[in-house]
Amino acid sequence: MRNRRDFLKLSLLGSALTSCFTSRTVLAAGQPKSQRPIVVSTWEHGMPANLAAWKVLTENGKSIDAVEAGVRVPEADPDVRTVGIGGYPDRDGNVTLDACIMDSNMNCGSVAYLQNIKHPISVARKVMDETPHVMLVGKGAQEFALQKGYQTENLLTEKSRLEWQEWLKNGQARQQINIENHDTIGMLALDTFGNLSGACTTSGAAYKLPGRVGDSPIIGAGLYVDNEIGAATATGMGELMMKTVGCHLVVELMRQGASPQQACEQAVQRIARKLDGYADYQVGFLALNKQGDYGAYCIQPGFNYAVKSVQTERLINSDNLMETLR
Ligand code: ASP
Repeated sequence: MRNRRDFLKLSLLGSALTSCFTSRTVLAAGQPKSQRPIVVSTWEHGMPANLAAWKVLTENGKSIDAVEAGVRVPEADPDVRTVGIGGYPDRDGNVTLDACIMDSNMNCGSVAYLQNIKHPISVARKVMDETPHVMLVGKGAQEFALQKGYQTENLLTEKSRLEWQEWLKNGQARQQINIENHDTIGMLALDTFGNLSGACTTSGAAYKLPGRVGDSPIIGAGLYVDNEIGAATATGMGELMMKTVGCHLVVELMRQGASPQQACEQAVQRIARKLDGYADYQVGFLALNKQGDYGAYCIQPGFNYAVKSVQTERLINSDNLMETLR
């Protein structure tokens, strides 16, 4: 719970940041300016995902194709337990997937509560490219995927099934997001033409209530791209991003002059100021602007993100609010 001391600190942090938006740009440590192409993504599984995106970007491909290719890597990897095949199931043992994608022309596509289809991001891309809609859910999303040639397959691996059964036995009704049971991949890319795109895909919160959909397929909450300004994606307890339309907020803060780093910090502080109980959860934002500057910030220690550009290929530990408040 928030206490008065934290509230005062948060208010001070907020006003200090706002006043320096226009006077300086805060870059992630050691980051050279204005890189293009560049791709950034959440968590360690972002490293191999970035390489797949990088291949597209360095062959003069478009950022939208790069982010789709990139996030398909963890979607197909059964060892990544929070995305695609091998993802944690819901309370009833069903793996339900959420994903969205957005390009530099405000086109976007999304699927939610999709079952038995390994690559939700590509179905979301087809929603974007081949329908007048933004979002398809559940059975309708699956039917659409089948019409487009995707096959159904069992996404609950033996490992996930055994762990879920163990969880059932122990009766741990854990609906909260903590550092063991989440790790959506959100990816943002700026291509050689200077265009931004983003993608976000997840199996959501482990052992969630059946029917629960988080922020990851919600345009504005788990992902947002405005090609004039920048792009943002999120990971962690989706309900907090949904309540604040977090990624849209990050992009709008960049529009007002914040660097990606400042915008992510402000968005996390907004959550902390507005939402009781925020300290029990993790939320991480990652942002990339039109110049190729990037930044990230989170509530709890432990969030990291992967960066790939001509100059660098590395995993960076995000700064976090808890240490700032200490
Ligand atoms: N944001 C995802 C969700 O709430 C999970 C995560 O990124 O940790 O479904």
